[in-house]
This record gives sequence, C-alpha cells and structure tokens, in this order.
Amino acid sequence: MFEVRATDLGGRLGRLEIGGKAMETPAYLPVVHPIRQQVPVNVLKEMGFKAIMTNSYITLKHHPDGVNIHQLTGFDGVVMTDSGGYQVLEYGDVEVDPVEVAEFQIRIGSDIAVILDRPTGYPSTRSYALQTVKETIAASQKCKEQIAHKPPAWAGPVQGGTHPDIVKMSAKIMAKMDFDLFAIGSPVELMNGYRFREVVKLVTAAKSVLPPEKPVHLFGAGHPFTIPLAVALGCDLFDSASYILFAKQGKYMTPTGVREVKDMVEFACPCTVCSRLSSVRELLELPPAEVTLKLAIHNLYVMKAELSATREAIREGRLWNYLTLRIRSHPTLASATNFDEETLRLFGLGLRWGKEKATFFFDETDILNPEVKRHLQRIEFNFTPINKKLSVIVTKNDYDSIFVHSGRMLGNALKRREDTVIFHPYLSVVPLAVIAVHPLAQNVCRNPPPENVVRASVERLVGFAKRYRYTKVVIRPSNGCAVLAKEIRDAMTKMKIVCSVSHAGW
Ligand SMILES: [Zn+2]
Repeated sequence: MFEVRATDLGGRLGRLEIGGKAMETPAYLPVVHPIRQQVPVNVLKEMGFKAIMTNSYITLKHHPDGVNIHQLTGFDGVVMTDSGGYQVLEYGDVEVDPVEVAEFQIRIGSDIAVILDRPTGYPSTRSYALQTVKETIAASQKCKEQIAHKPPAWAGPVQGGTHPDIVKMSAKIMAKMDFDLFAIGSPVELMNGYRFREVVKLVTAAKSVLPPEKPVHLFGAGHPFTIPLAVALGCDLFDSASYILFAKQGKYMTPTGVREVKDMVEFACPCTVCSRLSSVRELLELPPAEVTLKLAIHNLYVMKAELSATREAIREGRLWNYLTLRIRSHPTLASATNFDEETLRLFGLGLRWGKEKATFFFDETDILNPEVKRHLQRIEFNFTPINKKLSVIVTKNDYDSIFVHSGRMLGNALKRREDTVIFHPYLSVVPLAVIAVHPLAQNVCRNPPPENVVRASVERLVGFAKRYRYTKVVIRPSNGCAVLAKEIRDAMTKMKIVCSVSHAGW
C-alpha cells in the first residue's frame, strides 16, 4: 500500500495506494467543507489534487443517516475524513462515541478514516496531555475491538503536544495497534504561533518511535514554508484549510510567507489567477466573494508547488539544500534548525550513499548537514591509520582535480609511507583513499568559506591527528593556501604534534 521510492534526510518519496486509488507522496490534502465548500471541488481536481480531507463530524450533523462522501463532496479521489477531534478542541466536548464516529466514516465510504481523538492542543499541562493521550488510546482500542468491517485505511492519531516523552508514549502504544497510517495531532496552534521548534520536537518524538514503513500524516500544516521541514522530518501527508481561511482574511500565500494582499502592489506568481491579473488593484476592485475565491485558488497553487518542489528536492538528493533555503523565510523557522541529536539522527535515516548531484556548502548551517555529520562520525570511529606520518593536502575548492589525480597521489603517498588526507572546510578530514565516496569530491563550497567554519574544521583535523597518534604531520598546500597551511601548523604545534609545511607539491 505504501511504497518508498527514494529517500533524503528523513523525507520519503512514496506511492500510496488506498482502495485502488494511487497518489504520490509527500502530498497535500486540501480541506473541503462537506456542506459549504467555497472553491469548487472540480477546480481542485483540475489542479491535480489526488486526495482531500473533509470532516465527518459536520457530515454527521447534516446527514445523520449517512451519505456517500464522494457524492457529497463531488470528489472521486482519496477522501480522508477527520473524526471531529479538532471540533473537540474548538468547541469543547462533542457528544459522540468513538465507535459511532468510526462506523459513520465507514458507512459514508471514507478512504482514510481517523479514530476520534482528543487533541492535546497548546498550551497544555502534562496532566492534560496525558489525559488526551489516554482518551485517544482508549478510543482506538474500543474501535479496534468493536468494529468488524474496516475502512480502506485506518489512521491512528498520536497526541501529546509539546511533551516529547508523552508523545513517544502515545506513538509507542498506537504503533502496536494495526493502523495503516499514523496522524500526528496538535501542531496547528504551534504553527500559527510560529513555534516551529516545538513542531520539530513534536514530530521528532513521534517519528522516532513510529514504524518507518508506515505513512505519517501531519494534521493542519498549512504554511507553505514549513512543508520542506515537515517532509525532512518524515511526514508524508498534510492537510489544511489555510488556503481558504487565509483567503477570507485577505491573505496571499507566497513560498516564503503570507502577505496582506491589500499591502501588495505586484504579484510574483505565474499561477492561473495571478498571471491573468494586471495588478493587485485589479483584484481588489472585484466583489469580495470573488477576491476570496481567487486568493484561495492562488493559495492552493502555492501549496501544490511547494509539495512539488519538495518532492523534486528528494529526487535530486538535495532536500537539505532546499530546506536550508526555505528556513530563511522567517527567523523563527531558522531558529528551529538548532536541531538536537535525535532530530539529526532522524535526518540521517534516509541519507543516500550515492547521489548524482554535488552537495553545496554555503555557511555554518551546513555543518549540520547530516552528510557532514555522517562523514565526521566515520572519521572518528571507522578510520584505520596505516602509517605514523600524516600528509595533509590543503587546497581551494579543487576536490574534482584531486579526485582525477588521486591514483597517482596515492602511489606517491605509499612511497613516502604517509597516510594522506585532504583538508576540507566542512568535512574536515577527507582520506584520499575514499575520495570517490559521495560527497567527498562531489561538493562545491562558497569561496572563501566562512572563517568560523574553517576554524572549527582545523580543530577537528588536529583532533584527528591526535586521536590516531600521528608522530609527524606534513601540510602540503596548493598555491594561495599558505596562510591556511600556517594556521593548521600552528594549531598542530600548540597541541604538541610535530608538524611542518612542505611546498614540494602533491
Ligand atoms: Zn498566484
């Protein structure tokens, strides 16, 4: 049912088949109002959306005897129904039984049914978070025991909010039940409050426990610039009504944030709405309902394009580069990239060994690139020195050329009885013998690299020489690298490692 075709960081490019209907993931499911949908569903179909989310609670209120959800919404693709848990959060208690809600979702022909959950919300105390998790687990167990006939797919909700240990406990117990996919709840308030660091913690906690072979849905992710981050953390499905909610407030989505349309002069968007308008003024002169409709359709295009761009980044193996580009959309999003070890481990899960494209290094953020982390760990734990003498080649962004000459250079090093490594501003120590491994030669750095990045890398190189107890280090700089060579020599000498600079070439 869920097939992963490519991975990058924790992100997966997949194919999800439900009830004979297939879609590519990561995918965005626009929320469709079952009774008062403002953007015609035909428009969504024409735009290429393969799945939608709609609300079974509202459907139940209007059609207590049941109705075919595909006929009601006019959508023949995958229809996921939200159980009404969000209404619990919004309006207090809903007077329905989880079994009744689940059976109703099956009866109306939902393709993905969600167990009635109790969203934790934000802010929440530990005891309230625990209570919501317990209630959600109890509802899940009750549904599993009492419902004989299954929907095409069951989604098990994971709650716990901003309490990572409670989220993990919730995910662990839900993972033991036979769900087809899992849905992480409660990020809406966090997203709306730009509390992205908490979103990262929430998703990391859930993903670190949930079975990797199952798709994961993130409820209510409606800000386009958060999509690459959520995908990198391993979320496969998203739903949101933000396209219409923002439109009603006169808000215009862009890939890097949301703007007040009344404050804008020009549209920098090639979608079918914006490209047919000569100016923002022309849009604002239309009747209000039409403005809302046009804004909503534009917003949908932005969400759709963000998903396409993110999927393409996974295909290219450049999700890290794309993610670090998008986090510059807002300082609070950039702050969320102070990733802890657990998140970085999650990113490392889908890291590929071979890639066709070069890895780009721009600034200090790229020290956190999991490809760098993976390499540094291998250098620390998996390296075996052969000789006591270490030769360090210092060059300027010339790794391709070293790769071409690596055979001859290795021959020379062998004759001199030296282990040879290349100093790299981000990867620190690149053993010449493994330079063919991506991205050791296949990378491009901003030139010159930031000084603090180089300094940290020099420290790691000195640590490497010390750890493997080299008795002598020779620095071999290429033209224009004399200053850096001296800096490395001084750092080595300071740590009492015998070190010299040789200009004899490679
Ligand atoms: Zn547009």
